[in-house]
Amino acid sequence: MAIVSKTPQSVGASWQAIMQAAIRDGRTLCRRLQLDQPQLSAAAEESFPVFAPEPYVQRMRSGDPRDPLLLQVLPAVAEEHPSAGFSCDPVGDLAATKTPGLLQKYAGRALLIVTGACAIHCRYCFRRHFPYPHQQVLSGWQPALDALRNSRDVEEVILSGGDPLVLSDQRLAEIVRQLGEIDHLRRLRVHTRLPIVIPQRVTDALIGWLRGSQLTPWMVVHANHPAEIDAATAAALQKLVDQGIPVLNQAVLLAGINDDADTLCELSKRLIDCRVTPYYLHELDRVAGAGHFQTPPALGPALIEAMRRRLPGYAVPRLVRETAGEAGKQFLA
Ligand SMILES: *Cc1c(COP(=O)(O)O)cnc(C)c1O
Ligand code: SF4
Repeated sequence: MAIVSKTPQSVGASWQAIMQAAIRDGRTLCRRLQLDQPQLSAAAEESFPVFAPEPYVQRMRSGDPRDPLLLQVLPAVAEEHPSAGFSCDPVGDLAATKTPGLLQKYAGRALLIVTGACAIHCRYCFRRHFPYPHQQVLSGWQPALDALRNSRDVEEVILSGGDPLVLSDQRLAEIVRQLGEIDHLRRLRVHTRLPIVIPQRVTDALIGWLRGSQLTPWMVVHANHPAEIDAATAAALQKLVDQGIPVLNQAVLLAGINDDADTLCELSKRLIDCRVTPYYLHELDRVAGAGHFQTPPALGPALIEAMRRRLPGYAVPRLVRETAGEAGKQFLA
């Protein structure tokens, strides 16, 4: 029987092949979506290039310049307008760097930056100006691992980036094996957008190294809009949960994308239908170029209140802000 597919190029393809074939410029993306190049900015694109893989692009509506997934990846002219208080290192990451590749701001938890690469380039990203070449664990893991070994207060290591899941399962398995030998570590958290963007990334090998570690695995994914969770993504999330890996979601509150109660409630419902817990709704980090995504200060708390009236308690995320120098995320609602 012939299987007719709308998207022959990504069905059955490996996640690596999908990454290779990702759209890397605004013009191609607009052409793919039958758009007449709406408000494209060459300057914005030069400072932070487009990266949009096909399984994500497939979920965008053709011909709609306001599509909420498109707006997350398309370089807009609005990025060129400076916004007061928006900077290149809004959350103080450079000051929190202990050793290249290791960041600790909060008690008990340290973040290991294993790569600067991602499977999608999100225009609002607080790390869009981060000097990765100086931060990445390029020359080997030993300095960062040694620093972790010497930080006896750290119980949880968070694999971060960039997106840690752009690394091969083989490399990740080796990193996790070495982390497992550090006796004061108890939990391994993976912060990743890959299962949302390219669900094919949830391979059996990935489940293997997550489940095979002595450390208790937790995964935190990142979806901002219900349209990001299509059938394939839902299946990938359920596969992780079926394998006993707790999955949480963090979203960013973004003007024009998810700044209304209907959208946020539907996002939560799709997540809990997959047994994924809505964890944080982040206030936008004030990163240069992202000013047009900012919402009025009172809106976030009002949206959370509206969600509380409509959803079970476990479906309502906590509204948080990250402020440089604080001992943890600040809870706003
Ligand atoms: C957000 C963040 C964490 C994780 O915070 P949780 O509240 O535990 O989710 C850890 N380290 C750094 C540097 C962070 O920015
Ligand atoms: S996937 Fe995460 S780290 Fe990468 S660009 Fe998007 S928000 Fe930033």
